[in-house]
Amino acid sequence: MSRTFYIETFGCQMNAHDSEKVVGTLLQEGYTQVIDEADASLILYNTCSIRDKAEQKVFHRLDVYKRLQGEGKRFAVIGCVAQQEGTKIFDRAPHVTLVAGSSSYRNLPQMLDRLEAGEKRITGLDDRDTDETFDTEFTARNNPHRGYITIIEGCDKFCAYCVVPYTRGKERSRTSASVLAEAQRIAQMGYTEIQLLGQNVNSYVDPSGKRNFADLLSAVGEVPGIQRVRFTTSHPRQFTKDIVDAIAERPVLCDHIHLPVQSGSSNVLKAMQREYTREWYLERIAWIQAAKRDISITTDIIVGFPGETDKDFEDTITLLDAAKYDSVFGFKYSPRPNTPAIHMHDAIPEEVKVERLAILNARQREIQREHYARHMDELVEVMVESNTLNPRGQFTGRSSQNKTVNFTMEPGIEPPPMGSYLDVRIDKIFPSSLAGFAASRPKAASPALLAQQALNARFTSAAG
Ligand code: SF4
Repeated sequence: MSRTFYIETFGCQMNAHDSEKVVGTLLQEGYTQVIDEADASLILYNTCSIRDKAEQKVFHRLDVYKRLQGEGKRFAVIGCVAQQEGTKIFDRAPHVTLVAGSSSYRNLPQMLDRLEAGEKRITGLDDRDTDETFDTEFTARNNPHRGYITIIEGCDKFCAYCVVPYTRGKERSRTSASVLAEAQRIAQMGYTEIQLLGQNVNSYVDPSGKRNFADLLSAVGEVPGIQRVRFTTSHPRQFTKDIVDAIAERPVLCDHIHLPVQSGSSNVLKAMQREYTREWYLERIAWIQAAKRDISITTDIIVGFPGETDKDFEDTITLLDAAKYDSVFGFKYSPRPNTPAIHMHDAIPEEVKVERLAILNARQREIQREHYARHMDELVEVMVESNTLNPRGQFTGRSSQNKTVNFTMEPGIEPPPMGSYLDVRIDKIFPSSLAGFAASRPKAASPALLAQQALNARFTSAAG
């Protein structure tokens, strides 16, 4: 049977980048990627268990495609649901052959050998205590503009609602030398933007003892060819002022910080085991707001955590006003297996959660409408992300603050190359985007990036 694979990814950016590395490993092992389950000999689902919905989707997919087993196809469930459910997946979906958590991906070549030798039940579930990270030179980068680099894997925080410490294992960082070597490889491929990834990037501890997170950030920004450096996600507990100082001093470091607060109430934060208070968090926000650069702040918020009173929720709303976020990812609390919060009393009724989320979103929308007005008439540098016109006759780019900027160009001018940079004069403000007109010619994307994009496009059409 041909060695072809199909992969579908659920969940967060860490998962998306893990899939890039898994794809790179499979290609290196001689497999070919296809974009339709029907053409694949191996079907992989890289799963997410942060919310119940994503988990149900995977089992639904497995049910729907069960019939393909008769055609000799193999199924692999990898990622957080694999780690969480373990061998129970074989009971629920007996046509699955491989179940592996993210801490085991570095053993993927051996697991693939066993799969090809005809083994029916292969697991990679026992590596959560490892100190090793999944470093590979073989990464199939899907994003045409932005190169992702994982600097830290796992999480030691054990927030009461979260499955990640159980599914991704303990915190372990890569050496700064290996991160910088990857940044250089990415820059040589022509990427100008790098995003450093980790469940908590600012918990980064260089095993070689050379650099803390702020130093690493600055060092990545010094790699020749790199014009933008982003990072996600930060934890308030280990968020230090030198990160803000580094961003304020170096334009190459994007002026955007995602700092998940989860709740504006110290009581709820305590119950969530976040180990900081509202005041502690607001102190960090004050550092960012006092920086000499305008740094955009975004966050995650959970509403309806067990025991959240009307007053607690009101504290979250007043925190929105104080922090003046540029974007908020709001979620209703959903209990996850194996987490302490599942045993907590005082569950909040679904209709209250729905109402609180609606209030949160409505208030945040008003704040964004007011707060985005600061960009009116500003000259904003964007990286071009789409050079086909949208229905309003605009191209799309992204600012250093990670905002979507739609823009027009003078008639008769060639569309700007994807990945190129140009200045846009902002003349319209929307709650979640900005619009304007090009005020400069595109600064050409690097030839290496254009070559890489052409390669990605050829690969995608060949896969189809
Ligand atoms: S910090 Fe908390 S929410 Fe974030 S991954 Fe770790 S346990 Fe989950």
